[in-house]
Amino acid sequence: MSTLVTGIGHLATQDDELGELTNAALVIEGGCIGWIGAAIDAPDCDEQVHLGSRAVIPGFVDSHAHLVFAGDRTAEFAARMSGQAYAAGGIRTTVAATRAASTDSLRANVRRLSQELLRAGVTTFECKSGYGLDVATEQRSLQIAEEFTDETTFLGAHVIPADASDPAAYVELVCGDMLTACAPHARWIDVFCDRGAFDAEQARTIIAAGQGAGLTPRLHANQLEPGPGIQLAVEMGAASADHCTHLSPADIDALANSNTVATLLPLAEFSTRAIYPDARRLLDAGVRVALATDCNPGSAYSTSMPLAIAIAVRDMRMTPAEALFAATVGGANALQRDDIGRLAVGRRADFTVLNAPSYVHLAYRPGVPLIEHVWRNGEQVWPAPAED
Ligand SMILES: [Zn+2]
Repeated sequence: MSTLVTGIGHLATQDDELGELTNAALVIEGGCIGWIGAAIDAPDCDEQVHLGSRAVIPGFVDSHAHLVFAGDRTAEFAARMSGQAYAAGGIRTTVAATRAASTDSLRANVRRLSQELLRAGVTTFECKSGYGLDVATEQRSLQIAEEFTDETTFLGAHVIPADASDPAAYVELVCGDMLTACAPHARWIDVFCDRGAFDAEQARTIIAAGQGAGLTPRLHANQLEPGPGIQLAVEMGAASADHCTHLSPADIDALANSNTVATLLPLAEFSTRAIYPDARRLLDAGVRVALATDCNPGSAYSTSMPLAIAIAVRDMRMTPAEALFAATVGGANALQRDDIGRLAVGRRADFTVLNAPSYVHLAYRPGVPLIEHVWRNGEQVWPAPAED
């Protein structure tokens, strides 16, 4: 069974050799790309879909999201927009609501947000725990997350919970019983290494324990102030250092000489009215950069990768091409995946059809819903096709 997708006005493959094509077509076979090239050269297929000269891009890869939570922080957002500063401690209000929530209601919330991500063109997303901060709720959070994605992250070290007897005892719990309960349901381990959360020594201990349990590290680093998080991420071989808002020259050097991706989360700065990370300096130094949503109820309650791209272009001085690359290949790099992020023969047929002549419109037309169709594993998944 093969499907020819033709009438692609502009195709951004993100593949080094193929680059950008006009009047293009691709063939889907077995959920993957079987052929790609000029429409005029396309082979015959069992089925044909014509896109009427719309643009096609790879599905976005959102490598940083916190979707398992309950409760509402509208009032905190309103207060912040009225002049109060963002602090890591607001996480604890979500923790109380999440612990009290039923598994069904937590699952329904993840389902709703994963549908939002799909509508925003995201075909792969990462999902963290971190609003349980006790053994049972962290495990339950990851069990729910793994129903929706393979990219699950144990974030027991989000903040020290209000009911912890002392920080050292909580770190011991995270590295002990909590890790044992959570590791079977997670691929990654993450630590919030920042003011009000965990210091470098605590983070190093937790990451090492996670690695001992077979998890690969990624780190929340340097969001709120300069600190040791980025250097630690590089030292520990983390797949990604996330936020990178406060960067020293040494941080940039460390990232540039490593395999650690710098994942930028501009929706967090947008929603906390903070300064944006210096994407230009990172890119010019040769650092691999990803863009992700950071969707979470406190500092960035948005699933809109197109908005993240528009901000990255407008306010972080990324070119439209760099921003698209960071939201697709960059995300795949941050998740150490080479089957997604690019459209080329043998890769997964995960792509988004834009109601626009090219991907540049994602930044040129901020806030406009340009995502027309989303395909994953070679099938249209949004809008869901009508049942026969
Ligand atoms: Zn985060």
